[in-house]
Amino acid sequence: MQITLTARQLAELEDLAKQSLPNESCALLLGKESSVLEVLPIANAGLSEVSFTIPSEELLMAYHLAESKEMDVVGIFHSHPSSPAPSSTDEKYMEINPVVWLIYSTTQNRFGAWVFEDKVRQAEMVVRA
Ligand SMILES: [Zn+2]
Repeated sequence: MQITLTARQLAELEDLAKQSLPNESCALLLGKESSVLEVLPIANAGLSEVSFTIPSEELLMAYHLAESKEMDVVGIFHSHPSSPAPSSTDEKYMEINPVVWLIYSTTQNRFGAWVFEDKVRQAEMVVRA
């Protein structure tokens, strides 16, 4: 499984992660197939440094918005103040949402891409022009 983003979208996610510090940030990645066409920042309802919560009404709105634009939620982004690898809580949610999970480490300044396919596996992150 792979996810394709533009360098601009990656920069946008990096900014979002840095602006949300010390809290984690999150965003839904809307697009088609594996290509991200739009980044939709979501307020972290949990306002936590170690986890994120997407309010269900925001999630529902995001799915409706994607549908109205004939797009899908192709990925879920959030940031970590640690390594860009899924936490045990993330793993549980990844199993329920088997799209690509993009994690940005605000301490290592790098992205990690993951997906649940039988188990948590590394996904391929492709940068398009
Ligand atoms: Zn996490």
